Amino acid sequence: MESESRKLLQRLKDTLAENIAGQARLDHIVSLIASSMRTEVCSIYLFRDDDTLELCATEGLKPESVHQTRLRLGEGLVGRTARSRSVVNTANAPAEKGFRYMPETGEERYTSFCGVPIQRLGDSLGVLVIQSKAAREFTPDEIYALEVVAMVIAEMTELGAFVSGESGALSARHKRPVVFRGTVGQEGAVIGRAFLHEPRVVVTNPVSDDPEMETARLRSAIDTLRVSVDQMMSGNTTIDAEQVQVLEAYRMFANSRSWLRRMEEDIESGLSAEAAVEKEQSFARSRMTQADDAYLRDRLHDLDDLSNRLLRILTGQGRDTDAEMPDDPVLIARNIGPGELLEYGKKLRGIVLEEGSVGSHAAIVARAWAIPLVIHAEGITTEALNDDTVLVDGDQGIVHLRPEEPIKTAFQDKIAMQAQAQERYASLRDLPALTRCGTTIALQMNAGLMADLPSLKGSGAEGVGLFRTELQFLIRNKMPKRAELSTLYSRVMDSAGGKKVHFRTLDIGSDKVLSYMKPNDEPNPAMGWRAIRVGLDKPGVLRMQLQALLRAANGRPLAVMFPFVCQHDEFRAAKDEMVKACAREKILGHALPASLEIGAMLETPSLAFAEDAFFEEVDFISVGGNDLKQFFFAADRENERVRRRYDTLNLSFLTFLEQVVARCAKAGTPLSFCGEDAGRPLEALCLAALGFRVLSMRPASIGPVKSLLRRADLTEVRQVIEGARAAGQLSAREAVKDWLSRQPAPAD
Ligand code: PEP
Ligand code: MG
Repeated sequence: MESESRKLLQRLKDTLAENIAGQARLDHIVSLIASSMRTEVCSIYLFRDDDTLELCATEGLKPESVHQTRLRLGEGLVGRTARSRSVVNTANAPAEKGFRYMPETGEERYTSFCGVPIQRLGDSLGVLVIQSKAAREFTPDEIYALEVVAMVIAEMTELGAFVSGESGALSARHKRPVVFRGTVGQEGAVIGRAFLHEPRVVVTNPVSDDPEMETARLRSAIDTLRVSVDQMMSGNTTIDAEQVQVLEAYRMFANSRSWLRRMEEDIESGLSAEAAVEKEQSFARSRMTQADDAYLRDRLHDLDDLSNRLLRILTGQGRDTDAEMPDDPVLIARNIGPGELLEYGKKLRGIVLEEGSVGSHAAIVARAWAIPLVIHAEGITTEALNDDTVLVDGDQGIVHLRPEEPIKTAFQDKIAMQAQAQERYASLRDLPALTRCGTTIALQMNAGLMADLPSLKGSGAEGVGLFRTELQFLIRNKMPKRAELSTLYSRVMDSAGGKKVHFRTLDIGSDKVLSYMKPNDEPNPAMGWRAIRVGLDKPGVLRMQLQALLRAANGRPLAVMFPFVCQHDEFRAAKDEMVKACAREKILGHALPASLEIGAMLETPSLAFAEDAFFEEVDFISVGGNDLKQFFFAADRENERVRRRYDTLNLSFLTFLEQVVARCAKAGTPLSFCGEDAGRPLEALCLAALGFRVLSMRPASIGPVKSLLRRADLTEVRQVIEGARAAGQLSAREAVKDWLSRQPAPAD
């Protein structure tokens, strides 16, 4: 059986070398398989689109049904094979549930049926079918041989072996347009070309007639893999419990006899080492999509990662041999860390991730750079090829891969319109956000990287309302030194050219985990040991940071705020650290800041109810709306299922914010709002109407917010909000939108 299988594979391989059209090659292949397997029928069905399988070649069925017979996914036994991604083997096909009789093929004469999925690395490509008149089930050996053949057909499909220009030709894999619906990570629309973080491995030699050599190659690759897994485990002292679990699983698989045995059997039957790895990987992937058990799914995921590593070792293809980055790269990855993203730098046009989360560090970096980002674009890393055209619609969370011309044109129009709007906003850059009722709102920007600072000038921001210092910690792999931080903060102040920068002390914990700090396994990190709680309990880093800030100011004015203050004593203790830091600096002979403002972020409802003394003591308050909203509604800002469930313009929330405004006004405490909502025009308008006079946002939002504020009369907006409340509405959104639709068009 084995040598028979090898002979067949060799013949299939020979068809690759033949100079014939794609269809002729397919026809040749089905006839080779039918004669080698001694069955009357062999057919290949390939996907036309995600839902439709088309009979593309047959030996034994009526030739006129080729390219005519089509089945939906799940329809008939062929559709069932494709949907279940597993073998369907029956001695009595017509009696099987779901059997669909297709008169045009003449198949009623065949009783036995065996369908095997054609798949490659998670991609379902089609179904290989054999049928015979005699009623018999195909043996496990026959099925195995068929699976090996299906693997080779999958590789050949990938290599474009069945594409040709003749009529009824098959469209090549990875040539058709595909739309991915994901989640918005960062708004904006761009056109660019795909640049894969980990390019697809291409196997050009699926078949080999030297099993000994292939086995030796496989074993040597596995040895290399084992060493690298061991190195990962021993060389990494900062990995957390979860990572250890993953690496343990890697190690287990890398040492698994049965995994190796299966691959060696595949090689024996004629596959090359890389095709054998892929065959087992494809099976693991199809099981992964079907596994209900989360643990099992995770383990299959680990096996998948490991197989990828093995393939890269065998083929020598990896990140080192990356294709040239195009001029307009759209980065496509399963997930990416902030460090890797920073290595790519600002030249990226857009980013599309299969995983990721809105609050992840990578998303924060993408947002800071205003690079459109779509996350949860499931399946894009398997579908996209380097250099494919990609349209990233960051406003809707949609990605068009290899779009049709009309979509591309419409998208270009959209980009042109946005560019026009940006131009319009640029003309507002030096004008104040002065409303029709004569109120001026100060618009500041949020930042966190040195690279953000040029936007201060370009956007017309009046200062930095929030400088997230943790980004500097997140992007490193070891704790930064005081001198480094002080130089950096000093450069930030220099580039701000006298405009005020509000430095927020380290806000780590929750989703922001430093790889070099001992991890904490917390059941609910968002409400756990984070931000100022860490700073006060382990004050070493806080003290170092405060000192770095004082030295950076070097006699200039300084504004510092503490994140996640929940009650007065936390603020007092943090402020006390600052007072002590100043005293130390003075003793050491360093210049103290010309003025020092010490503020608190209001991110939990508790602080809004703090005693008057707190509001009197604090120099300023900045509302961290992202966290405040999550705690007000008890809806995790990271959880896609709930994060959009409650509207910021919900009247309960607005009423709450009004109280914060009133308390600050009573104590004469300057107040700002620095959550993401400050950068959304409608939300910003309502915040201004409630009494916020300082809003801090992403630089790209300043133009649109300013443009709207300049058209608005805040007294009227206030009345609209009150009207919505009086009418018993849940949210003010519809009422404000309605009011807006009745305003004159923008004059600027
Ligand atoms: C916030 O919570 O609104 C905020 C500005 O801080 P971060 O998003 O960094 O938690
Ligand atoms: Mg926050």
